[in-house]
Amino acid sequence: MPELPEVETVRRGLNDVTLHQIIEGGDVLLDRTIAHPFSVADFLAGLQGAAIVQWHRRGKYLLAELGESAVSGQRSAVSHQPLAAISSFPSRPIAASPSATYFTSHPSPLTPHSHSWLGVHLRMTGQLLWVDQTEPLEKHTRVRLFFGNGKELRFVDQRTFGQMWWVPPENEPEQVITGLQQLGPEPFSEEFSVAYLTQQLQRRRPIKNALLDQTIVAGIGNIYADEALFLSGIHPQTLCIHLKQSHIERLRSNIVQVLQASIEAKGTTFRTFRSVAGVNGNYGGSAWVYGRDGDRCRNCETMIERFKMAGRSAHFCPTCQKLESGIGNWE
Ligand SMILES: [Zn+2]
Repeated sequence: MPELPEVETVRRGLNDVTLHQIIEGGDVLLDRTIAHPFSVADFLAGLQGAAIVQWHRRGKYLLAELGESAVSGQRSAVSHQPLAAISSFPSRPIAASPSATYFTSHPSPLTPHSHSWLGVHLRMTGQLLWVDQTEPLEKHTRVRLFFGNGKELRFVDQRTFGQMWWVPPENEPEQVITGLQQLGPEPFSEEFSVAYLTQQLQRRRPIKNALLDQTIVAGIGNIYADEALFLSGIHPQTLCIHLKQSHIERLRSNIVQVLQASIEAKGTTFRTFRSVAGVNGNYGGSAWVYGRDGDRCRNCETMIERFKMAGRSAHFCPTCQKLESGIGNWE
């Protein structure tokens, strides 16, 4: 499941290729992907003619700020930027059958587009692909948005939990994408301070559950919760109220570091990062504990273990992350 670093990687990739480009049409292959407006036709009508100003990220939500074309009604007047390939997006052989665009038969009643937004949540398996419109559709293609120069933004989602929203100009994104209202601070924000985290961790619940709670901090999922807990020497089941100030300080710092390192590694590839304690230095190729059950800990060679916790897999090193103390041995 994409977490903050993966979503951030997608955001950066989208900003590389879609900025100032005009949405000329679209096609919704699975209606329930569209969370707002209720009508799929209204969703597509709202987007038609809008230019991508900037892609933003909030937690695991992607938010495209939309603007008007430079010359209203003359979409071709907006210059198209050169189209660079995104290396992380798979390239496929080109097919000969371009699909029809929705908008040719449904002109938009909704203009202008100032300050409207396109929201996307990838959920479990969603992918945004920037491809030629002539490329064969992936089996799980749900939504297609057509741009100039024969390009399209294609939303592919096997599990179908992914969602898209069009936020009309009269609304703020939070009013329409209500999940945004529940989000805690961004891990990289000043708001995500030791004082804030300490105040949030006054409950008798396992620390891992707290880290997965998007109302406490936005964007962390199973991978980076496990990684940050390992780097902090904290067992996933440690109760929040048992954490000392020094643990919370270390945890906050490691959350930021592991997310940042993963973003630099472009998300799931997870190539490089450095322990804040400087114990391990750089390691290539993989995570510390996530997905490594049965392998040896990179710090102490103990076998990494995995267990079920709140319906998710938790990975940890029984030596580096002792439950008794909740304190690791990084000092
Ligand atoms: Zn260990």
